[in-house]
Amino acid sequence: MRTVFLGPPGAGKGTQAVRLGRERGLPHVSTGDILRSAAASATTLGEQVRGYMEAGDLVPDEVMNAVVEERLRQSDCMDGFLLDGFPRTRPQAEALDRMLADRDRTLDVVVYVDVPQEELVRRLSGRRLCVECGANLNVADLAESAVERCPKCGARLVQRTDDEPETVSNRLEVYEQTTAPLVEYYEQRGLLRRIDGLGTPEDVYRNILAALTPTDE
Ligand code: AMP
Repeated sequence: MRTVFLGPPGAGKGTQAVRLGRERGLPHVSTGDILRSAAASATTLGEQVRGYMEAGDLVPDEVMNAVVEERLRQSDCMDGFLLDGFPRTRPQAEALDRMLADRDRTLDVVVYVDVPQEELVRRLSGRRLCVECGANLNVADLAESAVERCPKCGARLVQRTDDEPETVSNRLEVYEQTTAPLVEYYEQRGLLRRIDGLGTPEDVYRNILAALTPTDE
């Protein structure tokens, strides 16, 4: 199953893609994760992308296309993958089509996780990550006394620098302008499955399973 997870930042694409990947034995390819780990190290890619990420801007298409092409060439992606965070622009979507066509492949399904803007702001600005166990939490769900420490392991909670308020509003604007038009791009090709992204992660996962048909597999 060659799948794209599409949706605004904060929609929960990552959480859902990780789970579906685990259950289907498919690699979760998150461009945000690839770039964050490059940015944290002294690689050329890291140097190239750090500024864009900190501002909540998109990394240029040529850089992204090369990153994804290299990743999809790895052997674990041969039988399918769950792409999360790519494509984000029309040229990226066309580049993905070409990468797959070069191998006589096509995309099977696009899972579009739809969440209203007010909820995205709430989720992104309240998101905290545990430095030890990687837990992903929202301050709105924690008691006031617990917002500094992970309730699972007690380690420190941090905020992604691109979840700070000005960057959040820029990321949402960039999404609306540049990425949202891909909904129509994939809808016209009959690949889009629109998923209600409100509710618990469990509810959303159920919606995704219900929307996938045997021909998507
Ligand atoms: P994410 O974790 O998917 O929200 O990505 C974090 C940041 O990485 C984004 O705000 C962009 O700066 C960059 N990024 C990730 N994927 C892409 C992409 N496909 N195109 C351009 N920039 C990207």
